[in-house]
Amino acid sequence: MPRPTYPVTLVARHQLSSNTIQLDFRVDDNFSYEAGQFIQLHFRHNGEDVKRSYSIANSPSSFTSTGILEIALSYVDGGVASEFFSNLEQGIELSIGGPFGILTAPKKPSGQVILVGTGTGIAPYRAMAEELVALAERGTKISILMGVRSRNELIYSADLKALADRSDDVSYLTCFSRETDVDSTRGEINGYVQSQFDTLNINPESDLVYLCGNPKMIDDATLQLKEMGLGVRQIKREKYVFSS
Ligand SMILES: Cc1cc2nc3c(=O)[nH]c(=O)nc-3n(C[C@H](O)[C@H](O)[C@H](O)COP(=O)(O)OP(=O)(O)OC[C@H]3O[C@@H](n4cnc5c(N)ncnc54)[C@H](O)[C@@H]3O)c2cc1C
Repeated sequence: MPRPTYPVTLVARHQLSSNTIQLDFRVDDNFSYEAGQFIQLHFRHNGEDVKRSYSIANSPSSFTSTGILEIALSYVDGGVASEFFSNLEQGIELSIGGPFGILTAPKKPSGQVILVGTGTGIAPYRAMAEELVALAERGTKISILMGVRSRNELIYSADLKALADRSDDVSYLTCFSRETDVDSTRGEINGYVQSQFDTLNINPESDLVYLCGNPKMIDDATLQLKEMGLGVRQIKREKYVFSS
């Protein structure tokens, strides 16, 4: 049986970085999700039905109070959805399917939690802010690693810094793969997100690592974590694979 879809209306568009926009959709029906899940946006292009997946970037509680679903869309040159959504007029009606995905906040982690996202792959952790603060209050150590090529691609940095400021047990680190002018006192490093695993005192028996975004980062990081002794159940993954 096909999963139900929900009507949505585009109400706002914000430029988040040089190549990423945030789209705000009002959901015109009953809809709920868990932080960390994604939706599929349905639209018609050249007479064909097209679907693309996007992580939900805002928390369920903010959605409950505003009725607005936020997604961060990174522009791909010539991409069908990229072109379509960049030129979308406010007020246009579409539909969404979902929610999908199991990259949800851990309920009772036995060790530290490491949340890794490249590009828009950081969005699910922004949506988890309240769960993460609650976990930190119960003593779980949380490290958020954001990976981008350069500073002008950063998104949601202020939100994640604010989240880290709420607890000594939450840290936020930005990893720039193509930026040499970095400020380590502000939690910036030059290198891939995976290069930080050795610095995190990872306990392969108890720690949990989330990986979201670029499929190559996820493959490389998974390999490295397995070599460090983590089992598959300790690595949760959401690969942003292309649909076409
Ligand atoms: C579970 C899941 C969650 C996702 N969440 C997000 C999200 O929150 N934000 C987001 O921006 N995207 C996300 N994506 C990716 C998204 O679904 C689309 O694939 C992306 O927006 C490109 O779609 P497009 O129609 O513009 O490009 P397409 O028309 O599908 O592709 C056009 C061309 O560009 C290439 N291409 C496509 N994407 C990329 C890329 N990222 N880098 C390099 N080349 C590319 C394709 O191979 C193709 O040749 C997610 C994907 C999955 C599976």
